[in-house]
Amino acid sequence: MRKRIAIDMDETICDTMARHLDWYNTEFQQSLTKADLYGTKIYHKVPEAHVARVRAYPDIRAFFTDIRPYDDAIEVIRELHESYEIVIATAAMEHPTSFAPKYEWLVKYLPFLSPMNFIFCGKKNLVQADYLIDDNSRHFDGFVGQGILFSAPHNMEEAAEVRLNNWQEVRAYFLR
Ligand SMILES: [Mg+2]
Repeated sequence: MRKRIAIDMDETICDTMARHLDWYNTEFQQSLTKADLYGTKIYHKVPEAHVARVRAYPDIRAFFTDIRPYDDAIEVIRELHESYEIVIATAAMEHPTSFAPKYEWLVKYLPFLSPMNFIFCGKKNLVQADYLIDDNSRHFDGFVGQGILFSAPHNMEEAAEVRLNNWQEVRAYFLR
């Protein structure tokens, strides 16, 4: 039996935060950067008056269109797919309008995976897998397998049992 790796989408496979910053900076003429988000979330860094708008961006269909994959992400997932069962576990229940654009993104960028392996989920600890790669450590609570924290500005101060900083490190961890 091949081992199963569940992989988060936003801020793990693709640079959703870059899109978030881009939309925010454009609409409000700001110059917020990823460095400003070290140890925190965008919602805590924008003025109170902007929070609702910033939280609503993922409800807009175009938000998820052609978000850039991280360097090597697609290539490494393709390689892992040869030795592991890959499932994409993306938390989508907070933004149900994101289902279709996220699905389209996954089909476009990960065409070698069956859409039957895409999981649009709420609580990720319901996912049965040997590993979960995710930038949000809260998803590891109650997860049956090994949680692997994928580095993102917001989680850099967190302790992690296993932390991987980029997709080259993911490759080295699983394909050593
Ligand atoms: Mg994520």
